[in-house]
Amino acid sequence: MNGPGDTSESVADPRKRVLIIGGGLAGLAAAEGLAEQFPERFAIRLLEAKRTTGGRAGSFMDTTTGASVDYCQHVAMGCCTNFLGLMQRRGLSNQLHRYSQLQFYHPDFPVSTFGPSQWLPPPLHLMPALSALRYLSRTQRRQIRRGLFRLFRSRSEQLTGRIAEDWLREHGQDPDTIRDFWGVIVVSALGESIDRVSLAAVRKVFVDGFAAARGASDVIVPKLPLVELIGEKLTAEIRGLGVEIVTGQTVRQIIDSGNAGSVVTAGGEIHHADHVVVAVPWHSLANLIPQGSVAEVERLTSLPSSPISGLHLWFDRQITDLPHAVMVGTVSQWIFRQPWGTEDSSKGFYYQVVISASQSARCLPRQQLIETVIGELQHAFPAAKEANLRQSKVVTDPQSIFSISPEFEAIRPPSQTQLSWLHLAGDWIATGWPATMEGAVISGRMAAANILEAESLGNLEVDSGLRWGWLARQLIQV
Ligand SMILES: Cc1cc2nc3c(=O)[nH]c(=O)nc-3n(C[C@H](O)[C@H](O)[C@H](O)COP(=O)(O)OP(=O)(O)OC[C@H]3O[C@@H](n4cnc5c(N)ncnc54)[C@H](O)[C@@H]3O)c2cc1C
Repeated sequence: MNGPGDTSESVADPRKRVLIIGGGLAGLAAAEGLAEQFPERFAIRLLEAKRTTGGRAGSFMDTTTGASVDYCQHVAMGCCTNFLGLMQRRGLSNQLHRYSQLQFYHPDFPVSTFGPSQWLPPPLHLMPALSALRYLSRTQRRQIRRGLFRLFRSRSEQLTGRIAEDWLREHGQDPDTIRDFWGVIVVSALGESIDRVSLAAVRKVFVDGFAAARGASDVIVPKLPLVELIGEKLTAEIRGLGVEIVTGQTVRQIIDSGNAGSVVTAGGEIHHADHVVVAVPWHSLANLIPQGSVAEVERLTSLPSSPISGLHLWFDRQITDLPHAVMVGTVSQWIFRQPWGTEDSSKGFYYQVVISASQSARCLPRQQLIETVIGELQHAFPAAKEANLRQSKVVTDPQSIFSISPEFEAIRPPSQTQLSWLHLAGDWIATGWPATMEGAVISGRMAAANILEAESLGNLEVDSGLRWGWLARQLIQV
């Protein structure tokens, strides 16, 4: 019989009880993977502490305009096949814009358009795009081509444990090239600076994100605020598969009860489950899980995180009609125009400037940071000189993402823990991916795959990515 606060299912239900803690993309992907494959075999309940699902891929309500604003603009790339697969299976692909060209703005040079060739085979399709970056000299482009080739010819195991900047210097990249090319791509893609970031992660970005397949570097931007895309639409689709999703439920503790687990919520409810998937961020894990169930858990929490800042700017007029642009040699790194195009001039024209690895930017006084960024925008987009800033907000999460250093890479745990019923998900587990929506979705599918395997129900595929071009297969080490 169930005790007070005990919410276990009736013993008559033959389905295996799966409890997922955390309703970010990792938890949602775990639920979707199981429910889609075996709807009749599992009773899946997901508990999320906040009022909406989506986790870090979420939005806040701006009280002045009444609009949902993403904490920080999220983009995926064409290589993010698990995230895109999830969106496609749940009928949401039409809610994503896809761009194959990027504009690069450097304060001292005319704008450059980066667009891979449609005719050359990967990885050569990138060469015209590289040549089009007008702020790089010929010598720098030659260095970069040599550096890329060396990186492609090295196996990732040979690069493990190394910091990217050290390797780049050893391989003939001068400081300006490291700052203006490698650093620009790396900080946007990995959210960490070149002097701290793992070289193996950098290789992954250039191989999987650019070189190996056509379309890999396409930039994919949601057409809706994240709270609508993930918190509402994706969540509704997953509920439609029979998953029970409960928001506003914080889990305080997970207890080992032999070959199953029990979960205690902040309100004192107890849920028993045959499988528990913990899909919370790495820094929230240690207090939840039974002692000894995950190795190095204290160390995971103690390693530094990487902050990302979003500067939300509402002008009284349009400053550029570009959907987005990369900014080089400035504090600003990316600018995004509101992607859902519902500018109502009474509410202002919304733009967001993103600064990843924003340790130094966030030390500036808020007003100084805004003034610096506005000055950079005025330099890049002359229309900004006429524009008045109506409203601004700076949002920085100091624990935005884990810092993808060699130390962190070395201790990322697998999804399976020491306890057969306890599984991990989250962008921080050992997926081989940086902290991204793609990494989160892969991790959720890995947890779902563990459960299927434990229940002898076969396998759940993690998509292995875009098919490499034939020349890429010859030139790039697997
Ligand atoms: C500022 C910023 C910018 C980013 N930009 C990009 C980008 O452009 N592209 C990209 O691909 N990725 C980006 N990311 C990374 C991306 O958001 C994450 O990798 C991804 O959303 C992580 O999903 P997750 O499910 O692993 O974790 P989370 O999204 O953190 O989800 C964990 C969930 O667990 C819940 N939770 C925690 N503790 C408990 C508890 N005790 N009980 C119940 N629930 C609990 C949390 O409320 C949360 O909803 C960005 C992240 C940030 C912060």
